[in-house]
This record gives sequence, structure tokens and C-alpha cells, in this order.
Amino acid sequence: MGRSSKDKRDIYYRLAKEEGWRARSAFKLLQLDQEYQLFKGVQRAVDLCAAPGSWSQVLSRKLRAAEDEALAVKIVAVDLQAMAPLPGVIQIQGDITKVSTAHEIIRHFEGQPADLVVCDGAPDVTGLHDIDEYIQAQLLLAALNITTHVLRQGGTFVAKIFRGKDVTLLYSQLKIFFRQVTCAKPRSSRNSSIESFVVCLGYCPPEGYIPNMSNPLLDHCYNVDFNQLEGPNRVIVPFLACGDLSAYDSDRTYPLQLEGGKEYSYVPPTQPPICPPYQEACFLKKNNLLSKEKPPTHSRSAGQEEDPA
Ligand code: SAM
Repeated sequence: MGRSSKDKRDIYYRLAKEEGWRARSAFKLLQLDQEYQLFKGVQRAVDLCAAPGSWSQVLSRKLRAAEDEALAVKIVAVDLQAMAPLPGVIQIQGDITKVSTAHEIIRHFEGQPADLVVCDGAPDVTGLHDIDEYIQAQLLLAALNITTHVLRQGGTFVAKIFRGKDVTLLYSQLKIFFRQVTCAKPRSSRNSSIESFVVCLGYCPPEGYIPNMSNPLLDHCYNVDFNQLEGPNRVIVPFLACGDLSAYDSDRTYPLQLEGGKEYSYVPPTQPPICPPYQEACFLKKNNLLSKEKPPTHSRSAGQEEDPA
């Protein structure tokens, strides 16, 4: 694939580089904000599963826009992977399913709860849909669990969700903690992708609820098939397409020269990964150090084939 063909196929990938975002995901948060005004009055925010950092960039740019406000703003970003620094963003390299990570986040807030928690967490997909959906759901529940520790009453939680077959159970769990739960699909999220975002407004945990990382939130401990529930017992949340409908369509291919736009010129990624897991393999390959298959020790007659394993 040529350097510009991805720019052509994925308009948001290209715009992200042109506008200096580390990933195209930035547009998803920006479009969610257009619909829900997520950042209004927010001073303390947590970005879970933040690397490479485009959502943290959005938070940093939006919340610290006014110079006099910048000092009061606190943004904590967490990811398994290391992330290049960003202005005004405290970084934690950790696993959001671990109690120790939750405690570290809480410590940074020094008793002052957060106004907003966002989570764009996604596992490394296996391609086995049931497993991918299950792991994604566990990440969301881990994020919710951390949220119950750090979010103020009335605060907002936004998280990626895979709209798979067990999604009703997740909605039910979120509805326990928030006054309003909506599932939103920004324009920049491909229609072909199962991903959407739950926007949970008005944090109001059940009376007497004590946040607890060993809480069996992750256990399906009820003998109920939530998808079989009928009528008012079935939790149905509105599904809303958001972002300006005249915005670019993430499933379309666009010409490099956009209508009325500037001359196209290739822009390299804003922040390449600083320590990607494939770095060692690239080094070995570049230096011809990858182990090579040994030639067979005995000769074969023409046409004789190896038995497949
Ligand atoms: N929002 C990010 C941005 O805008 O740059 C992109 C997030 S990326 C789609 C998903 C991230 O989830 C990955 O960086 C991955 O390392 C992180 N992740 C997956 N499982 C995690 C876990 N258990 N704890 C922390 N981060 C996790």
C-alpha cells in the first residue's frame, strides 16, 4: 500500500495527521462532545486505555484552552503501554483491571473526585467475535469499577462498547449507576465496526453503595438471561448517530484532492509509537538476524513434497 493510499481510504486517519492528533480516534471524542457537551465545566478528567493519546490530547486542548483555567485542570491517563508525554497530562502505565492501578488513579485526585471518566479500551482482537466481545465487556466493567471510585455525583462516564449479543446486560449494569445511558455512534466510527460508545450522564450510585474493587461486578452471578427479558424489564437505551451528518463518512473513499481544500501533501504520523511491541522483530529483520530455515539434510527427488504438519 502506498503512503497516500491510506490517506485516501480513511479520511479521518488523514485529517488526524493534518490536525496533529495522534490517532483518528480523536474525532470520535470530539464528535461525542459536539452532541453531549461532555467537557462543559470539567476540571478533573481520567482517560482510561489512553495510548497513543489522542483522547488525552483532546482533553488537554479542550480543558486547558483558557490560560487561567489550565492550572486547575487535572487529567490522568492510564494505559498498559507507554505513551509520549502531553502537556498537563499525568500518565500511569498500568492495567485498568488491577486494584493497584485504581488506587494510583485515586491517589492523584487527592480526595477530589473527577468530573469525567472516558475509556476507549479495546483488547487485541482475536477475530473470534464472542471472545473479543467478552474481553471488551470486561474492560468496560473494569473501567466502570474504577469510575465508581473516582467520579463525583452527577459526573459523566463515556466508554467504548461492542454492541454484541450480551450488550443488554452491560446496559443494565450501567443503568444502576447513571441517570441516563445512551449508546452513540460518531460519524468517524466506521459503520462496518461493531464499536459504539456509551454516554452515561448523571452518576448516582445506589444508596449505600460502597465502591469496592473486589465487588463482583464482573461476575454474572444472577441466574437470569437478560436478553430474554420482555417489556419494561428489558433495559433499552436509545441509539443515536452523532456528529454533523454532513461530516466526512468514515466508510467512504475520498480523492486526495478534497473539494475546495488545499493542495494535498503527505503528512507523517504525529507521534509514532515510542516503544512498540514489534520493535525487536523489525531490528532483527533489518539486520538480517532473524533465524532462517535450515536446508534439508538429505536430497529429494524432483516432485517429492513435504507432508503438511
Ligand atoms: N483512546 C486512545 C487514543 O485516542 O489514542 C486509543 C485507545 S486504543 C483503541 C485501546 C488501548 O487500550 C490500547 O492502547 C491498549 O493498550 C489499551 N488497553 C487494553 N487493555 C488494557 C488494560 N487492561 N489496561 C489498560 N489499558 C488497556
